[in-house]
Amino acid sequence: MSSDRPSPRLELTVGDITTEQVDAIVNAANETLLGGGGVDGAIHRAAGPDLLKHCRKLGGCPTGQAKVTLGFRLPARWVIHTVGPIWHGGSQQEPALLASCYRESLARADEVGARSVAFPAISTGVYGYPIAPATQVAVDAVRSTPTNVELVRFVCFNDEALSAYTTALAIDLT
Ligand code: ADP
Repeated sequence: MSSDRPSPRLELTVGDITTEQVDAIVNAANETLLGGGGVDGAIHRAAGPDLLKHCRKLGGCPTGQAKVTLGFRLPARWVIHTVGPIWHGGSQQEPALLASCYRESLARADEVGARSVAFPAISTGVYGYPIAPATQVAVDAVRSTPTNVELVRFVCFNDEALSAYTTALAIDLT
């Protein structure tokens, strides 16, 4: 996609997203935005109870969209809550909805002026999206989205994710 804005630098890191020292971390939330398991639970635990208090005011979030709050006790100033698709086999708009999560999250980052953003592998836990295609969607969506974000860090929670992102980053479809 042509844009006068440079693409963000892409990095891979292994570990827990709640410790990331970036302007914004992305939460793989559910449509209620009222917390859950996996990365969502970890973010709420680390941010403290004010996060849930503010999430309650947001009125939920549709799949593929994103909403932003402060990070409260997190090192990150912002949390961008996005709702990935539940994997139903791939024929129910899952790739488009997942790509939308990345684009919309970068749009929220631009709105608040975040220049560095860390993403978990959205939808690849409880929501069941296979890691290899999910990481390819993530990388392609970030590469093709015009944004003022300068650094995007993909946080891998395990070796399987690290290997999938490494492969995805080596394939440039743009
Ligand atoms: P979803 O419901 O979107 O599938 P999950 O939280 O179940 O969300 O999983 C999304 C991804 O986040 C999975 O790959 C999981 O391994 C990873 N994950 C879980 N906890 C953390 C964490 N603390 N930091 C980074 N990634 C995490």
